[in-house]
Amino acid sequence: MPIYEYRCADCKRRASIFFRSFAAVSDPTCPNCGGKNLARLVSRVATVKSEEARLEAMSDPSAFGDVDENDPKSVARFMRKMGNQMGGEDLGPEFGEMVDRLESGESPEEIEKTMPGLAGEPSPGSAMGF
Ligand SMILES: [Zn+2]
Repeated sequence: MPIYEYRCADCKRRASIFFRSFAAVSDPTCPNCGGKNLARLVSRVATVKSEEARLEAMSDPSAFGDVDENDPKSVARFMRKMGNQMGGEDLGPEFGEMVDRLESGESPEEIEKTMPGLAGEPSPGSAMGF
């Protein structure tokens, strides 16, 4: 369940998209206008880190490859790591709570049901709407 930042070429708005699965990452849809012309933004934190640290993080196979979507604990590990890479400041308290709940064995679906604000910045036609 990765989170990516995009800029939409159709409505020119920035979108934080919280993907439900890794399979969906290759086909993002703008949560604002439904457009498909999304350009991935480099994370703000990535520019703060040194190039070396960034490359190291990107080359770490455990960052993406080892995540088992069906294992909440595995997803929690990944999200905690991703949160650290993003500086932890953009994700809000819900993110931490969700990771804790994943680690305690709750399924992402259950957590999403009880945490409607999960998608991040509130906007018309939020990313959770699809
Ligand atoms: Zn758009």
